[in-house]
Amino acid sequence: MQLLAASWVVPVDGPPMRDGLVGVEDGRIAWMGAGTDPGRPRGPVRDLGPGVLLPGLVNAHCHLELSHLADVRPEGGRGFVAWVEALVERRAHADPARGRAAVRAALDEVKATGTIAVGDVSNALDHLDLLETSGLEAVVFHELLAWDPARAESVLDQARRRLAASAGRGVRVRLAAHAPHSVSPPLLRALAAEGGPAAIHLAESEAESRFLDGGDPDWSAFLARRGLGHVRFAPPRQTPARYLDGLGVLHPGLVAAHCIRVDARDRELLGRRGVFVAVCPRSNRNLGVGIPPVPDLLASGIAVCLGTDSLASVDSLDLLADAAALHREFPALEPSAIVHMATATGARALGLPDLGTLAPGQRAALAFSPAPRVPDDPLTFLVSGAARARPVET
Ligand SMILES: [Zn+2]
Repeated sequence: MQLLAASWVVPVDGPPMRDGLVGVEDGRIAWMGAGTDPGRPRGPVRDLGPGVLLPGLVNAHCHLELSHLADVRPEGGRGFVAWVEALVERRAHADPARGRAAVRAALDEVKATGTIAVGDVSNALDHLDLLETSGLEAVVFHELLAWDPARAESVLDQARRRLAASAGRGVRVRLAAHAPHSVSPPLLRALAAEGGPAAIHLAESEAESRFLDGGDPDWSAFLARRGLGHVRFAPPRQTPARYLDGLGVLHPGLVAAHCIRVDARDRELLGRRGVFVAVCPRSNRNLGVGIPPVPDLLASGIAVCLGTDSLASVDSLDLLADAAALHREFPALEPSAIVHMATATGARALGLPDLGTLAPGQRAALAFSPAPRVPDDPLTFLVSGAARARPVET
């Protein structure tokens, strides 16, 4: 058995252990306890030194295929719709070889910053081979984007074929939808009828909320410029969450990204439906769309996880940077809750229950965040902005 020692061990589902020891055998955690425990297994100990040993991080919402679009980031300052439009334009004219190189670099960054699993949103599914060989656990949300109801059936047929073609690969691919204001009601209903979508962007921008509440000139103009001005849509005059619920989209296990504009009724609904909410605070700040009411989401019983979103809206895929951003936004939020979001809840959201916590039987996918001196409180340290996680070889 390989024994790892660290000044702090954070199991996530239990209190941090000072001078803890983690025993690893055959890729699983076989023993955990205090280094001074007389019953601890014998064997050579690898001391990681001052810092925090924790489960590898789980990035529940990212878009690795957008990693070559960093030059779109400044457009966020001009508003959400301008950013979406720049993203779509730039993406259409991007060099595929550059795109693949950027995904490779993004995967390296994800791993180097202590992340072991990703919920990766993809329209193109062009990088499944790179994910497969990356060593990361990945759930790919194959995101459908089609506002014209006349295309609902063909889009779904094509997606089903691509899903079937991906069966047996090293990554799981699940059908997802982009957002309530970019996917037609028939397509959302059809996805819901098949138990999906597995993920969606929800209540992210004011444009989305206004569009569903009676119309948004900016979003309507954008759709018209995309050649979709002919599509008739009767605004439901509901919040995005209640609109989706009416279509049957809110279901247990759905990973809904952002959820910034959710009122008390929406939060109660999301909690009751068993929806996971993936928050991306740095992306939200950069795009000027506001910040999700995380304490209220948690108080409503919602399982909240953490994501980075894409390099088109943030400058790194370091999930601890989002943990720190959330801590800055909500200083009263318990650091343990933020660390839980970045690990255990993310793992549950992606259907990976043997990741995200440290306990005997769990997979030994670990991260270590070194510290210049032993932190007084490892959880506060992890969300402080000073912590840098890295993978632990076992
Ligand atoms: Zn996203």
